[in-house]
Amino acid sequence: MAVSGIGKYDPDNIFAKILRGEIPCKKVFENDMVLAFHDIAPKAPVHVLVIPKGPYISFADFSQRASDKEIVAFNRAVGDIARKFDLDAPGYRLIGNVGENAGQEVPHFHVHLLGGRPLGPMLAE
Ligand code: 5GP
Repeated sequence: MAVSGIGKYDPDNIFAKILRGEIPCKKVFENDMVLAFHDIAPKAPVHVLVIPKGPYISFADFSQRASDKEIVAFNRAVGDIARKFDLDAPGYRLIGNVGENAGQEVPHFHVHLLGGRPLGPMLAE
């Protein structure tokens, strides 16, 4: 079910549980501000979710409240992870769903990093 991308952060969302180690994940990258892991239902050969460790609901929240350091760390990590999967040359797609119209399901900011095959049109009709 789609969730709102604004409002109060829910500390019991699934990615908060992954960050606390209460639920396992297939980790691909971690530093002090960012965690990345494989999506449980991959839509492409590479489908990685990149999340900040801070409690941000969506990009709307992250872009407003996160520190410059967190924002830089997050963006750098996304690029580094894409390079780790050799995606710079063939190309890849970043998706950040914010709120109900975008179909955001997990209320912890995340970017989907998708690649490994041609990804088709940007949006389903
Ligand atoms: P959203 O629709 O919020 O942008 O995307 C949420 C994503 O989280 C979906 O692609 C979904 O497959 C993924 N997801 C949901 N629960 C889990 C989980 O427990 N583990 C992992 N690794 N991914 C999850």
